[in-house]
Amino acid sequence: MNPTHLLDTHCHVSAYTNPVAVIRAAEANTSIIAVTESPEEYRRLRTRLGPRDHVQVALGLHPLKAHTFTPSDLARFFRLVPETTWIGEVGLDFSRHGAATKKHQLRVFDAVLAEAQPGQHPLTVHSRGAEADSISFLAQAKLPAVLHWYTGPTAPIDSALDAGLYFSYNIAMVRSKKFTTLLRAIPRDRTLLETDGPYARGARGPAQPNHIAEVVAALAGGWGVSVSEATAAILENQRNFIANASRSPRRD
Ligand SMILES: [Zn+2]
Repeated sequence: MNPTHLLDTHCHVSAYTNPVAVIRAAEANTSIIAVTESPEEYRRLRTRLGPRDHVQVALGLHPLKAHTFTPSDLARFFRLVPETTWIGEVGLDFSRHGAATKKHQLRVFDAVLAEAQPGQHPLTVHSRGAEADSISFLAQAKLPAVLHWYTGPTAPIDSALDAGLYFSYNIAMVRSKKFTTLLRAIPRDRTLLETDGPYARGARGPAQPNHIAEVVAALAGGWGVSVSEATAAILENQRNFIANASRSPRRD
């Protein structure tokens, strides 16, 4: 991936009406981690997009689908792990949307964490309503991960930072009331970007990777720095995160 590109660490490319047009529009200055929700979606999207310098398809098992995954889906996931760089979307969701399938989610997330070799695959993680649990599982597993669209309380953020985790901001987050609170709790050097498009929406409708500079502009405003300073800070965080994620496993 181009080190001068901003990195959209979480985009549901398959969910746009025209996925190829969306990624092409971003080609000049944004790289994309195209998350998937199942091994089947991963396989289909890789075939559909073909190899592209600025897009990496991530292998996922979405927590809200955990109850539908069969042992053969899990086996397929494990078979595909060695060929993917990023893993996502994975995680836990104990909000009202996922409370009923908590047991299934824990079983799947546990299996994912056991299979994802430390130092091999960065993860983009969903943690709605399950922030403290997600963070403590990731800390125990010593895996390099980004908490995507963090909406939880600020209390668990310190343990996330201790565990070396990063946070990715999208356009909906920077437009929300919680933005200022998050800015205070999350240090600048743990900040990454995402769209969570097309699900997150900005003033122009569903978020797109080629609009990601809007998130940078909002962060610059929040940090009280220029856009070019904010861009440089984020590029450096991306480099650090990727370098860390590909380092050999920590043994402590
Ligand atoms: Zn997502």
